[in-house]
Amino acid sequence: MVPKVVFGQGCFDQLGSILAPQRKDKAPFIFLVDDVFKQNKDLLDRINLRFNDKLLFISAEEEPKTTQVDQIVKDIKAEFTYKPSGIIGIGGGTVLDLSKAVSIMLTNKGSAADYQGWDLVKNKAVYHVGIPTISGTGAEVSRTTVLTGPVRKLGINSDFTPFDQVVLDPELTIGVPKNQWFYTGMDCFIHCVESLNGTFLNAFSQSYGEKAYDLCKEIFLDEGLPDEESRGKLMMASWHGGMSIAYSQVGVAHAMSYGLSYVLGTKHGIGNCIVFDHLAEFYPKDVALFKEMVKQHNIDIPKGLCSNLTEAQLNTMIDIALSLVPLWENALGENWEVIMTRDKLKELYLKM
Ligand code: NAD
Ligand code: ZN
Repeated sequence: MVPKVVFGQGCFDQLGSILAPQRKDKAPFIFLVDDVFKQNKDLLDRINLRFNDKLLFISAEEEPKTTQVDQIVKDIKAEFTYKPSGIIGIGGGTVLDLSKAVSIMLTNKGSAADYQGWDLVKNKAVYHVGIPTISGTGAEVSRTTVLTGPVRKLGINSDFTPFDQVVLDPELTIGVPKNQWFYTGMDCFIHCVESLNGTFLNAFSQSYGEKAYDLCKEIFLDEGLPDEESRGKLMMASWHGGMSIAYSQVGVAHAMSYGLSYVLGTKHGIGNCIVFDHLAEFYPKDVALFKEMVKQHNIDIPKGLCSNLTEAQLNTMIDIALSLVPLWENALGENWEVIMTRDKLKELYLKM
């Protein structure tokens, strides 16, 4: 679990005092910042770089890759003699995951690809801080960092992955475009649905999942566009949704969305929405709610993505989805392979 967190409008300004005790002599802090903030002078001024601290802008155009993590680590090692005092990620799930992975790879040998899986990390990561600027993924609280590697899209799941400190300032999410607000927000809603309807459910996951699910319903069904209060609520929904899946698992939408993302590069939030729209058979009540939310906010869910795929591409998509065994076990139980055959997956993908 994340051991330290601050929450509140404007709490980003506490960053300096949070970092000060963590600074080690000549070792810099490295800030990985979503490049959407490149022109945001106010935010950049508030970061307050000191001594040899370094700020790297990161594009969130594509989801993080193991090669990208390796390159950033190589560059940091080439530029600084001292191991950094800390890595601070400021952005959405993309930048948060990248920051977690970089902090792990600064203290572990080889490539990030060697650690995709469960509990493969040997050494404690460098001190790392997560500061989300968009809400929904739960990446700020989770025990994983999802990376696309040479052979798979899979997280580095380990006890060393979670941030040492998180700063939750809803004000930082103000500029998020409406469609993106919805897609990433739905990631949270879908985390809850898959956790609450899964066979791995337990009291821990249920208590967090139910809270986040209710918050999502309030935000996306009862309220209009985000205001100060609803930005705070969505940030907490993201946190609770992340806590819920930390002790259970996601399900059908995530397994299929990973396949889409691997073959077509579809991003996580929108990919989940594209898939979930067609999963009434598995999550009837919640797919109906989802459709209501889409309608209420007039959101565009892309269609026809898979209609022109080659047989080889479809097969890769199916292979990637089927490789996520724990997700299927959670969603459909021990006999999931009888229900989710290759033909069934193909039929579902072809609708998308
Ligand atoms: P993102 O980080 O990819 O960002 C989406 C878009 O929003 C980008 O264009 C970004 O520049 C923009 N953006 C972010 N903050 C903004 C702001 N304040 N104002 C204006 N624009 C802003 O989106 P995401 O949905 O948060 O993250 C998706 C990633 O998270 C995927 O890589 C996915 O694999 C990962 N993920 C990780 C976990 C985990 O537990 N580690 C869970 C779910 C998803
Ligand atoms: Zn997700």
